[in-house]
Amino acid sequence: MNAQRITLSAFLADASQGLPKDSQLADLLLNIADTAKAIAKLTEKGALIDMVGKLESQNIQGETQMKLDVESNQIFIDNLTRSGLVAGLASEEMEAPVLIADDQHQGAYLAIFDPLDGSSNVAVNVSVGSIFSVLHAPTDALPVEQDYLQAGRKQVAAGYAIYGPCTMLVITVGKGTHGFTLDRDTGEFSLTHANIQIPEDTAEFAINASNERYWEPPIKRYISECRAGVSDNSREKNFNMRWIASMVADIHRILMRGGIYMYPKDNKDVAMPGRLRLMYEANPMSMIVEQAGGLSSTGRVRIQDIQPEKVHQRVPVIMGSKNEVLRVESYHKT
Ligand code: MN
Ligand code: MN
Repeated sequence: MNAQRITLSAFLADASQGLPKDSQLADLLLNIADTAKAIAKLTEKGALIDMVGKLESQNIQGETQMKLDVESNQIFIDNLTRSGLVAGLASEEMEAPVLIADDQHQGAYLAIFDPLDGSSNVAVNVSVGSIFSVLHAPTDALPVEQDYLQAGRKQVAAGYAIYGPCTMLVITVGKGTHGFTLDRDTGEFSLTHANIQIPEDTAEFAINASNERYWEPPIKRYISECRAGVSDNSREKNFNMRWIASMVADIHRILMRGGIYMYPKDNKDVAMPGRLRLMYEANPMSMIVEQAGGLSSTGRVRIQDIQPEKVHQRVPVIMGSKNEVLRVESYHKT
C-alpha cells in the first residue's frame, strides 16, 4: 500500500486544481464518482445477477437496451437528482432531458451522460464504461433542451469511468486530465495517473475496418497507408491495429500509450453523419483527450467547436495522438 496516495476528494479540494472554493463542481464530481462505484458493483456481478439480459425495448437511438443500460441510467438519475447540484440532466438512453423537480432544482449545472458505453460487451466480459459531461446551466429558469446545446469547448468538466480489470475514473476540469483508481477494499478513488499525456506520435490505429467499403477517400487513404507501413514507403513506420469496440476502452488505451481512434463519416446509412453521439460521447472524450495533449476532429472541424443542433446529434470522430489526427485532417483538405 502506498500511503502517499491522494484521494479524489482531496484532489478536488486542492486549490491548485483550479476549482473555485465555493464551487459545487467538486461535489458534483464526487457524486458522479459514487455513481461509477455503484455501476462497477453491478458489472462485477456479471451473470450472478440477471443484468446482462436484453430488454424488448429500444432506446431513443434505436438500439436494443440491456437491463444494465436501464439500471445504470437510473442510478445516474437518482444520484444526480438527489444531489441538488444539477438544474437538469440528459442521457443517451432517454429521448428528452430530465427536468429536476422544483424543490431539487438548486444546481448551477447541467449533467449529460452515457450511463453505460459499450454495453453489448457486458455479455462477453469486456470492459465497459460511463461517460459524462458537465455544462453551466445558462439561466436560473428550468432548463429547456436549447440550454443543453452548448459547444464542447464550454464544458466545465468531463470524464469517464472504465469498468475493467480495475475500475478507474478519468476526469478533467480544464486543467489537465487525471486518472483515479478505485480501491475495492476501501471504496476510495485515488490519484494514480496525474497529468496524463498522450504521445504526439503513435504506431497504433483503432477503427472498425469492416466498414472500409463505406469510408470516404481520405480515411481509405490513411488506413491503407498505415497498413502498408514501410513496405512501399507509404509511411516511415509500420502500424498495429487495435479495436475493442468499446469507446471508453479504446480511448483509455490511447490515453495510456497513444494511438488514433476513428469512427469516421461513412455512407453506410446516409441518414447518419457519424456513429457516435456528439454530446454524450464525442464532446466529453474530446475534452479529456485534448486536455491530455491529443487532438479531436471530425476530419473537417474540431469536435469541440461544433454548435450542437440537437441533444442526440451524431458526428464523425477522429481523436488521439496529435500528429496522426493532424495528418488525417490534412487528407480531408486535399
Ligand atoms: Mn455509448
Ligand atoms: Mn450507452
